[in-house]
Amino acid sequence: MDIQEIRAVSDILRRGMEGYGLAERADPYAIQNMNGYCQMLLDKNREMNLTAITDPVDVANLHMLDCAALLNCAELDGGKTLIDVGTGAGFPGMVLKMLVPSLELTLLDSLNKRLDWLMEVCGELSVQGVRTVHGRAEEAGLDPALREQFDFATARAVADLRVLSELCLPFVKVGGRFLAMKSTGSDEEIEGARAAIQTLGGRVERCFDYTIPGTDVIHRVVVVEKTAPTPAKYPRRWAKMQKAPL
Ligand code: SAM
Repeated sequence: MDIQEIRAVSDILRRGMEGYGLAERADPYAIQNMNGYCQMLLDKNREMNLTAITDPVDVANLHMLDCAALLNCAELDGGKTLIDVGTGAGFPGMVLKMLVPSLELTLLDSLNKRLDWLMEVCGELSVQGVRTVHGRAEEAGLDPALREQFDFATARAVADLRVLSELCLPFVKVGGRFLAMKSTGSDEEIEGARAAIQTLGGRVERCFDYTIPGTDVIHRVVVVEKTAPTPAKYPRRWAKMQKAPL
């Protein structure tokens, strides 16, 4: 990124956070970190497949600000624990961590080289309090060290909500929330997942639709409350989930 692009990204992030009513989060340190993350993402994307979005302005809008919207539908302050399932290049987990430094963040993905790169980003930008778990969510969710240990689980662009709930809800403590980032065209998907969510010990609390500031892109967060422990037999193996979704 050249100096003009770096400035443009900072402006978009600052204005976007104002647009969300979250200007106080956009301190110079947070903006600098998100800008550095954006630069490292686009650099690394030349050799590793991290994102299909290659324009810095689009990265700022469609990755950074998109993920920042979660701050308007969950209280993440106060040393909360969050696991980002299928984090890929770190979305939404890394953005949330940069905006809420007290967050205890776990990044989970089945692709280790992406996780290695994310730890490089944390080192380069001095982001502390991030750990990675390399593995499949359906296996990690059975591990007592991870099961029902988190205040929040997040996921964006990983799976259909029925399957995604089986991957994510086991990680969430009773009383915590699973935040699924979806499109506004997800009404049917949500209806189709209600029974599964109930079986897994959750309930759809609300849908939070938002416009990414400065764009006409409208996305949705499905907020699922964990109301009861997930029965021990879930999550099932991937093939079983695909063959017989709940
Ligand atoms: N969440 C990121 C985003 O919004 O840009 C990445 C989305 S990418 C399309 C999906 C990611 O989920 C990939 O990095 C993939 O390795 C990971 N993934 C898919 N299924 C998974 C599973 N069962 N367990 C762990 N990771 C998984």
